[in-house]
Amino acid sequence: MTTSFILVNQTLPLLEKCKTITELRQLHAHIIKSNLVNHTSTITKLISLCSHHGDPHHALSVFHRIPDPNPFIFFSLINQMSESSCPLEALLFYAQMLTSLQSLNRIEFLIPALLKACGKSRALEEGRQVHGQIVKTRMLFDPYVANALIRMYSELGCVGLAHRVFDTMHVRDQVSWNSLISGYLRAGEIELADGVFNEIPERDLVCCNAMIDGYMKSGQCELAEEVFRTLYDKDVVTWTSMISGYVVNDRQKEALGFFREMLRQGVRPDAPALVSVLSAIADLGFVEEGKWVHSYICMNEIGLSSGFIGSALVDMYAKCGHIENACRVFEDICHIRNIGDWNCMISGLAMHGLGHEALDIFLDMKIKDIEPDEITFLGLLTACNHGGLVDEGKYCFELMQEKYRLVPKIQHYGCIVDLLGRAGHLEEAVNVIQNMPIVADAIVWKAVLSACTIHGNVAIGEGAALRAIDLAPEDSSCYILLSNLYAKVGRWDDVGKVRLTMKQRGLRKVPGSSSVLVNGKVHEFFAGKEINVVYSVEVRTKIEEIVSRLKLEGYQPDLSQVLLDMEEESKEQSLILHSEKMALAFGLINRSKGSPIHIVKNLRICYDCHSFIKLVSGVYNCRIVVRDQNRFHQFESGSCSCKDFW
Ligand code: ZN
Ligand code: ZN
Repeated sequence: MTTSFILVNQTLPLLEKCKTITELRQLHAHIIKSNLVNHTSTITKLISLCSHHGDPHHALSVFHRIPDPNPFIFFSLINQMSESSCPLEALLFYAQMLTSLQSLNRIEFLIPALLKACGKSRALEEGRQVHGQIVKTRMLFDPYVANALIRMYSELGCVGLAHRVFDTMHVRDQVSWNSLISGYLRAGEIELADGVFNEIPERDLVCCNAMIDGYMKSGQCELAEEVFRTLYDKDVVTWTSMISGYVVNDRQKEALGFFREMLRQGVRPDAPALVSVLSAIADLGFVEEGKWVHSYICMNEIGLSSGFIGSALVDMYAKCGHIENACRVFEDICHIRNIGDWNCMISGLAMHGLGHEALDIFLDMKIKDIEPDEITFLGLLTACNHGGLVDEGKYCFELMQEKYRLVPKIQHYGCIVDLLGRAGHLEEAVNVIQNMPIVADAIVWKAVLSACTIHGNVAIGEGAALRAIDLAPEDSSCYILLSNLYAKVGRWDDVGKVRLTMKQRGLRKVPGSSSVLVNGKVHEFFAGKEINVVYSVEVRTKIEEIVSRLKLEGYQPDLSQVLLDMEEESKEQSLILHSEKMALAFGLINRSKGSPIHIVKNLRICYDCHSFIKLVSGVYNCRIVVRDQNRFHQFESGSCSCKDFW
């Protein structure tokens, strides 16, 4: 007895010190030799450490060497197994325990572990058997057991059964309510979750956070905000749910607002919050805010590798038109890059029309043995597309299928069709669509239609328009492209017919809007309206001044563009009121010498504005960066980085 006491006393601290599974195995051998295999606390410790080191199989081999395991050892093993990578083993040992032990005391402590194992392994049948035993042994009155049962059924997607257990409970605690709510949310039953949420006697942070997330995912931002406002104590999860929720619902300004409020209240953002807010900033094009967040990340020593922050920064700078900064961040993370970082860099360069640079990044990936995925190739195809690199694009499209065995998705086909079409290979583009193994969507046909508009090909364009309209009857841009095509070849009767059809179907052009950053503040302008009353006279006068100066340089307003603006009376006047021209004029009035003007437009930039801005960049000697719906245009000395290919 004394020897055993001394041995145990020596062995237990050694066990605690084990760092690897090899060390544990050595100690296990020592335990067998010293005849400690029946010593409960040594063995339970050994079993728990094996599981802790991710080796449940060794835990099993420890167990099998015990001649006469007692209940404590069974309990320990079952608990460990339910947490391991093979949770159903817990059930097997439970069954073995039931047959090998004479008396079974306090098995209710084991039931939650068993139910958890069933939930994790998606084992409904086994779960129901445990439920049966719970009913027989009247353990259902134990709230721990009942809550575990609710959680299991929720996890298995049987919320109805979870609710039935909930209804039979005499005493419900917060965990019972929360488990039921999260079950409904997991099943996507927001209304039923809402019903339970409204009945809760007392709402805690856990259920409020869950409901905020649920409301956001179902697009009910107002309800989420209502819950948020009632919360006195919020944690970082609450704030992050609000920020990412607004981003998911395309309400970036609100997301940014919540981020600012979070900082004001002294809450330190976590990686998901930073990634969400950076994506909101990227969409808005508010680079000053982005730079501020970047320096916040550096000052607070938040690693660029944590939770995709590096990728989010690369993406934000690229989308805000600062591709040099994007490249610098990409350099900074050269030791910790993941595939997402590489992909973000390639798409960033693509957006800027820097096709060759994007292809260089791909070569670098190959040197560093990084396996490209389908997103890599989508970026490369986009890069070739925006850079007008037809041969390289075709090569990448073949490479992804033949060398990397990746199956192109509709987006990849969309890119290659767009690339071929814009380069004038219209028949080849249609051929690709007809031979692809997936059904074409409206976007693919719209790419053909848009290419036909550029090249004035009515024969192919009309067919493409019919298919695009058939697939997306509510999308006004298909009609507008078709009307553009007819205008291009002078078929005014047909232009009129298309416009009439649009009117009859109640379709309107999406109004254009552009924003420009002046002295760190964003100013927004809407097409056809001078919404910003304070500046309207000033802006109008400036545009007129620019127009007369440009006319001396040979600027001819492209009146064919006006046909799109059906409501406008005077053609030239309506051209002047394009939102990007107003934003540009405002930028020119307020610019500080030498700094570029950054404009973000919600739609594709029109031909007239494109040539207008080109001239302005030369005559006024300033760099102008415009981000439209598809890509960036960098205007300088009278020409654009897209080389008029967009
Ligand atoms: Zn325009
Ligand atoms: Zn351009």
